[in-house]
This record gives sequence, structure tokens and C-alpha cells, in this order.
Amino acid sequence: MGDFDFIIIGGGPTGSTSAIFLRRKGHKVLVLEREKFPRQHVGESLLPFCYPLFEELGILEELKKRFPRKPGARFSNHDGTKSSTWCFRNIIQDDSYLSFHVVRADFDKLLLDKAAAEGATVIEEFKVEKVNLEAEDFVEATGNYKGETVTYRGKFLIDASGQDTFLARRLGDKTQIKELDRIAFLTHWKGAKYTQGIDVGLLQICILPQEKSGWFGIQPVAKDRVSVGLIISRKYLKEQKEKLRKAGHENDWQMQLYLQEVRSTPLTAEILSDAEIAQPLIAVSDFSYYANKTFGHNFAMLGDSGKFLDAMFASGVYLGMNSSKMFAEALDILMRQGKEAGMKAMSEKKKHIDGAYDLVEKFINIYYDPAGFNLAEMSSTSESGYKGFETAFSLVHYLLAGDFFNNYEKYSGFLDMLKNPKQFARWKNLVVDRPNVHEKTCGTTFDEIFGSIDDRLVEETSINGKKLQQLQGE
Ligand SMILES: Cc1cc2nc3c(=O)[nH]c(=O)nc-3n(C[C@H](O)[C@H](O)[C@H](O)COP(=O)(O)OP(=O)(O)OC[C@H]3O[C@@H](n4cnc5c(N)ncnc54)[C@H](O)[C@@H]3O)c2cc1C
Repeated sequence: MGDFDFIIIGGGPTGSTSAIFLRRKGHKVLVLEREKFPRQHVGESLLPFCYPLFEELGILEELKKRFPRKPGARFSNHDGTKSSTWCFRNIIQDDSYLSFHVVRADFDKLLLDKAAAEGATVIEEFKVEKVNLEAEDFVEATGNYKGETVTYRGKFLIDASGQDTFLARRLGDKTQIKELDRIAFLTHWKGAKYTQGIDVGLLQICILPQEKSGWFGIQPVAKDRVSVGLIISRKYLKEQKEKLRKAGHENDWQMQLYLQEVRSTPLTAEILSDAEIAQPLIAVSDFSYYANKTFGHNFAMLGDSGKFLDAMFASGVYLGMNSSKMFAEALDILMRQGKEAGMKAMSEKKKHIDGAYDLVEKFINIYYDPAGFNLAEMSSTSESGYKGFETAFSLVHYLLAGDFFNNYEKYSGFLDMLKNPKQFARWKNLVVDRPNVHEKTCGTTFDEIFGSIDDRLVEETSINGKKLQQLQGE
């Protein structure tokens, strides 16, 4: 097989995107992926700013055949009495206002197959166990492949291992973000009611009561498949775990906790009343962290492997994929012009990538701040009087759509301004308390969202066939 220019650990969206862009620049690329694809994964609601990337990667038409479209996001409070709807059409005039909700098993396989089709060597079921970054002119990755220990050699190592944070853990450089310490549980449901905005493709964020410090993320990922993710604080989880164990749920407390919250939240109880769980429950406990040193002359951490932020704004896939695209340009300079030029180019790209991540973190922190703004709890007043505030109105839309990389300084200043209670109150009165934020849909129909999906292209994962009521008390 010979030596490679780049060895990439992980074939998720970050690893595959890196592989494709590096191949297009003529480099020899090896992707080592632990699993056999398709495999399940969280992270299914994609931002409109991904759209040009999908086009450039050559997967847009395939996505249109497989997945529901996403015209916007709706935030509602726990009992559903208040909500606000943010439609990407308000700021995006071309087709990209209709983003996608995806089944990650299929989406990730599509991207990984694309990387192989572009000439990357992809080896699945290869778990990288050890790397050597000490040599002057090469790197090595060693792992287990079908029972044998195999080592590959390349010039540069990209860690795209996601939440496994392969390098950060080995380098002892992983810091948890305490303020965002939460746990997620997610599964898919069949037979859910397609009402309340699911029928028109909205990502629904349902904010849970204060003591849970969390939310439900609900999105349709097929014509008959709704993904429902529960995110709660670690403190609340510990209390509930204790109670459930005492009540005899020693082994299945996670599922019981998930179902307890589904039943006690009016929105999920209503849409899932006659639904059945369609795949095993996924738990994600490593919720927010970062590594300090994310690149050097022979390695880089991209996507979740270097930083992960709370999933509230569905930003992770776009952050990982766009960082990969940007960083590939610097890596090309490194290969062609040597270390000095390469390090300079990587530092420059990293500055913008860090700017984007910092902006998302700020947005998330403001959102969780009890004194900050709650997109669900905006009241509506008359439309007159808002003229002249279109820019401010658009800013939140742009943030929700994913405009993180181009204007992060401007948006960051805007978010700082909102930390001032007086400024916030003024902004909220003039910009957010407007009737069109309280529409229930973004004007899309069921057919526009689900009409072009060919169900046969999406693989079925295991189904245990029990409806919500049957799971009661199990
Ligand atoms: C509850 C929750 C909801 C989310 N919702 C959204 C959302 O709606 N939209 C969104 O954009 N993002 C969302 N995210 C974030 C999103 O899931 C991630 O940001 C995204 O998957 C990152 O992609 P990645 O390629 O960096 O990592 P991953 O997709 O995790 O890929 C990493 C790959 O590396 C492989 N790997 C790991 N270790 C090794 C090893 N030692 N050897 C070989 N291979 C290895 C893994 O098998 C995996 O396939 C959510 C996250 C959570 C926790």
C-alpha cells in the first residue's frame, strides 16, 4: 500500500470531509475507521450553511433523495404554551434555506463512500490503538485489524475520532467545560404523530423546566421516523438515577429516565403517544470539552476530537465539516511548501476555526443563562414599530443557520451586547416580540419536506416493536 501523506483516525463527517478535500489536492490519504458502516450516531439536524458544502462535495442530490428537509427551528417551553419559530427563508433567498434532517448511519456512510470514490484508502473495522508522533519525518498509526496488529506510516496525522478524543486523551489535554456539563439520551420512534411542526420539517427544541436544565430535540429523519433526544444536567440525572434504582430499575434506569421525561413533557407525550421505539437508546455523557493544543507540525485534531459543545444549536456537523475544508488548504501548503509555511497557514486557519467555536459557545452560554434570553418565551405584539431593526432580527436567524465562520467578531459583539439587561430588554422588545416569530410553520408543506424521499434508500435499524404505553412501568 506504500506510505500516505495523511492518516485520518475516524470516518465520521469530519474525517470523510478532510479526506475528500485532501484527495482533491492530490494527496495520498488513509482513513482508519473503527466501525463497519452504517452505524448509528447522534447529530441529525443539519444547518443551512452546510448546503454549499454538500454541493461542493457532490452529495447534495443524494441527500435530496434520502432525507427530510428543514426550513427552520422552533423553540417551545415545557408545556407548549409559548413558542417562537425561526425560518431560514427570512434571511436566505436561494434553495439552501431548506436544510436537511438526516439518519446519521446513512449520511455518514454516504460521505465515507464518497471519500473512497475520490481515491482515499478507507479501512473500516480498524481501531487505532497507538500513534507515533515522535519521529522527525513520519507519523505512524497502529491498530487492530481482524485480530492482527498493523502499522501504517504517513507524513501527517489527523485526529477525527469524535468524542473518543483519541489524541487529546493520550496527550492528557482534555478539559471539560463545567458550565455545559450535561448528558444526552436519544432514540428513534416509528408511528409518531406528524403534527405541531414535525409535519413541516421544523427542528423542535422544547425547553424543560429549570431544575432539569435541559431540553428535548425533536426532528423527523424519515417519512415515518422521528428522532427524540433528551438533554439534562448531570445533577438532575444523578437524582433521578438514584430514585429509579431504588424503585427497582437497577439495570434499565437510563431507558426509564428517558421514558419518564417523554411522558411528562406534553409535546413528546402527545406526538409519541402511539409510537414505538425503533432503535436502541444511545447515551452521550461526555457533553462539552476542549483540547488546548489542537495542532502541531505533524498532527491536527478536527471536529469533535478537539472540541465539543452542547448540541442546542445543531452546530457540530457543520463546525467539523467546514473546519476540515478550511484546514485542508493549510495542510496542502504544509505538504508543498514545508513546515514553516505550513505552520503559519495552520495558525491562520485555526484562528478562524476557534473564532467560530467560541461564538457558538457564547451563544449556548447566553441561552442557558437563566437571566439571558429564552427563545421560547417571547410574547408577541404588533408588527409596526419594528422597521429599522431588520439587521438585529436577522442576526439570530444567521446564528441559527450557521454563519459562524465569516462574521464571528460581529456576532460576538452582538451577543456581548445582549448580556447587558437594559440592552437586551430593548432588543427583545424591538426585534423578537414580533408576530411573525410566533407563526407555527415556515410556510412549507408536508410534500415539500418529505415528498422527494425514496424510503428504500434508507436502511432500517433494529426495532423492538413496543409502543410508549406498553413500555409504561417496564
Ligand atoms: C445529543 C447530541 C445531539 C446532537 N445533535 C446535533 C445536530 O442536530 N446537528 C449537528 O450538526 N450536530 C449535532 N451533534 C454533534 C454531532 O454529533 C457531532 O458534532 C458530529 O458527529 C462530529 O463529527 P465527527 O466526524 O467529528 O465525529 P464522529 O461523527 O463522532 O466520528 C468519529 C468517528 O471516529 C471513529 N473512531 C473513534 N475512535 C477511533 C479509533 N480509535 N480508531 C478508528 N476510528 C475511531 C468513530 O467510530 C466515529 O465513526 C449532537 C451531539 C449530541 C451529543
